[in-house]
Parts: sequence; C-alpha cells; structure tokens
Amino acid sequence: MENCIFCKIINGEIPSTKVYEDDLVYAFNDLEPTAPLHCLIVPKKHICCANEIMEEDEALIGHIFRVAVKIAKEKGFSENGYRIVNNCGKDAGQTVFHIHFHLLAGREFGWPAG
Ligand code: 5GP
Ligand code: ZN
Repeated sequence: MENCIFCKIINGEIPSTKVYEDDLVYAFNDLEPTAPLHCLIVPKKHICCANEIMEEDEALIGHIFRVAVKIAKEKGFSENGYRIVNNCGKDAGQTVFHIHFHLLAGREFGWPAG
C-alpha cells in the first residue's frame, strides 16, 4: 500500500529495529516506547484497522496473538504480565492506519485506559 509507513517498514524502506519476523507478520520496537518493552506486531498484509478484518484474516489475527505471547515469554515477561493493545479509529487514538498490536511490558499499567 503506497504511503503507508508500516508497509514501508515491512519492506525495509523505513528502518526499524526488528523483534520478530515470519512469513505473515513483522514485529519491531515502537519509535516512542511507553514501557520497557513496547513493540508493534503487524501483519505483512495491509489491513487498515480492526473494522477491516475479514473472515479470511481470522487465522492471521490469531497468529499475531500467538506471536505476541511468544515475544513476551522470550523477553521474560510472561510471569509478571503484559498488555496487548489495538487502537481502532480516531476515538481510540489510532494514528497509523495499518492494523497493529502494541505489546507492552515491564511496568504496571493502569485501568481503565486513559
Ligand atoms: P497507534 O496510536 O496508531 O495505535 O500507534 C502507532 C504507533 O506507531 C505509535 O506508538 C508510534 O510511536 C509508532 N510509530 C509511528 N511511526 C513510527 C515509525 O516510523 N517507526 C516506529 N518504529 N514506530 C512508529
Ligand atoms: Zn500498510
């Protein structure tokens, strides 16, 4: 997808610090981390937001959650816990319209969300 910064990160046009990659997903550190671990897990397929997840994408979205858990475990956060966040649309604060899941860990998080 032209002019999508996350598509450009996936294809290497914009540099990023890779955390994980396979055929379906790419994970990289957030540019402005808000926790000791703050990475973004994105499908290589351009899906703009949760509203656009199709039935054919169900396995892909499930895979993203499994990748998030794998990263959290590998980085040693599975016992203390971690948060997986997807912002969809303006009111949720979505700023990049290529669906992504924040994986946050390494501190305590408040609830309800701000
Ligand atoms: P959103 O608010 O859309 O859920 O989150 C977008 C996230 O992407 C933000 O946390 C922001 O810091 C991150 N981000 C935006 N542009 C870039 C970039 O060029 N590189 C990286 N690594 N992260 C980015
Ligand atoms: Zn994209």
